[in-house]
Amino acid sequence: STLTERVTATLRDIPDFPATGVVFKDITPVLADGQLFADVLGDMAQRWRGQVDVVTGIEARGFVFGAALALELGTGFVPIRKAGKLPGPTVALSYDLEYGSATIEVHDDSFHPGQRVLVVDDVLATGGTAEAACRLVEQLGATVVAFETLVELAFLHGRDRLTGRDVRTLVVVD
Ligand code: IMP
Repeated sequence: STLTERVTATLRDIPDFPATGVVFKDITPVLADGQLFADVLGDMAQRWRGQVDVVTGIEARGFVFGAALALELGTGFVPIRKAGKLPGPTVALSYDLEYGSATIEVHDDSFHPGQRVLVVDDVLATGGTAEAACRLVEQLGATVVAFETLVELAFLHGRDRLTGRDVRTLVVVD
């Protein structure tokens, strides 16, 4: 079977999480399967080898894939965190959620003009988080090579918020 089929078969649906009516895609069984996790990272890495200067991941599951990918690619890793977690001077960006808003931030010296940055997360849903992460990178003058994710919930049309950027996902859920 293909890697996409193996990941699809391993993801777990959790109904009514975090709210009633939402079916949450649980990716932790993919991390727990050592061979599958390695194969996913190998697949992501071969796509970007030699094409990125740094990998950035979005808290929290983006850290797991992002840090592993940085090691595979031989680059550094930059954490993009929820507001108030990073110790140094930051740039922040707020974005709307279905109810309320969220803020993510990054150290203000994390990215530089001319740098090629790969943005990584586990799941692309409405795209608000990914768009905000890409804009933080671009605000500091660097270039988003692509947004790479394990799962895309296509029915939420997150791609529409990432126009002009390369979006790459292993599993598309319709
Ligand atoms: P978005 O901003 O609506 O695209 O939501 C994406 C963020 O929420 C990512 O950081 C994901 O980790 C998380 N997320 C949203 N839905 C799911 C899901 O079904 N499974 C796992 N993570 C999710």
